[in-house]
Amino acid sequence: MEFPANATRRRKGRRVLVRGLIAAVAVGIGLAGAHAQEPALVFEGVNVVPMDEERVLEDHTVVIERGRIIELAPAGEASVPEDANVVDGNGQYLMPGLAEMHAHMPGGGPGNDQYREDVAFLYLANGVTLARSMLGAPVHLAQREQLASGAMVGPRLVSAGPGFSGGVETPAEAIQQVREQAEAGYDLLKIFWGLDRETFDAMVKAAKANNMEISGHVPAAAGVPHALQYYTTIDHFDAYMPTLVDPEETADVNGGFFGYRLAPYAKQDRIEAIAKHTRDAGVWNVPTETIMYSAFEVDLDTVADERPEFQYMPPDVVEGWFDWVTNFRAGEDYDQEAGDAFLEVRLDLIATLHDVGAGLLLGSDAPQWFNVPGFSVHREMAVMEDAGLTPYEVLKTGTVNPAKYLGEEDVFGRVAKGMKADLVLVNGNPLEDLSNAHDIAGVVRHGRWHSRADLDARLEEIAERYAN
Ligand SMILES: [Zn+2]
Repeated sequence: MEFPANATRRRKGRRVLVRGLIAAVAVGIGLAGAHAQEPALVFEGVNVVPMDEERVLEDHTVVIERGRIIELAPAGEASVPEDANVVDGNGQYLMPGLAEMHAHMPGGGPGNDQYREDVAFLYLANGVTLARSMLGAPVHLAQREQLASGAMVGPRLVSAGPGFSGGVETPAEAIQQVREQAEAGYDLLKIFWGLDRETFDAMVKAAKANNMEISGHVPAAAGVPHALQYYTTIDHFDAYMPTLVDPEETADVNGGFFGYRLAPYAKQDRIEAIAKHTRDAGVWNVPTETIMYSAFEVDLDTVADERPEFQYMPPDVVEGWFDWVTNFRAGEDYDQEAGDAFLEVRLDLIATLHDVGAGLLLGSDAPQWFNVPGFSVHREMAVMEDAGLTPYEVLKTGTVNPAKYLGEEDVFGRVAKGMKADLVLVNGNPLEDLSNAHDIAGVVRHGRWHSRADLDARLEEIAERYAN
């Protein structure tokens, strides 16, 4: 008994160490190598949106070297390196890159390599410099390294493992899968539905023991109040609906898709109670409102005209979106009125969570139902503004808050000296009008400048690929 167990442990230990070394070397060589010969990147005369508080630092010089901001000072007060690549930022605004906290990357299926690379680029082209991929596969671990080294153009990738669902049937299986995912190097565990309570509890215990955080859906057998003890983020407000209603009043209601049919019975005092409970538990929410609008509200006759970004998606993906939503709404028990109420209650939940001081993270769930990667975070931000957040508060959910979530407040999420140079240059003040955050003049990733012209050239290439 003992011998094989020890042998296994030793082998595993070595494997982890070797993989860690390879990753460290790859990232180290990649970045150092890439940056060694690069001149400094300098923005002159630019208005900085630092995101430390609601303010603009007008007419500043920002100096970037080796992927970091090394100087930020009023114009004329910064020393600009001789051979620097200077961008005239006059009249423009430099803000931190955005995080898409419920992203997806295409999996490892045949022919998906190009699509996966395109998706990474689409995120970046829309100012997304960090994507938290919420359904992982081994191919994403490799992609995470490619993106970290700059070998692939796109955001930093934080990757969940393959999802935990009803397919995990016993506590022993759950424990085994948690261990495997931790060992494989995934950043977090993604939970789906269907786990029974015993398996769920075994999983969360194993997650803690393996230092893995838990995010995603909340199995009905667990429920939100119980899950709040263990989760780092709850996504889609999953399983919140049952907490907002009187269970006796709704005993005969079949909640359906995310419990939407319960929405007409939601009670204000219950919304406040669960919002405070969420705040006290320190659990973040990633609402992903835009997919709910896709399910219940988007006009199928006009959406393709309203969203020119569909041209950057493989046509079969877009077709799949139309099929899903069409079938969903054609369902025998589809209830439009309950759907409308559901969208309203969710806006209320966003506002209440925000008001009581619970944490919100920007996440739209792309590429799902009409959400083209990158483009959809800007639609998501508009919905959060509809819920009552100010542009500054909305921008925090995609910058400062994700940094907090990752424990990297001094690494990214703000524009300040010493921070990572993952930035977006936009043509108007996003604090005055949130839509300015999508009026992008260029993106900085790893300290490298991607001008509007560069971005457009590659976008055109992608559109051409799918036009044929
Ligand atoms: Zn998702």
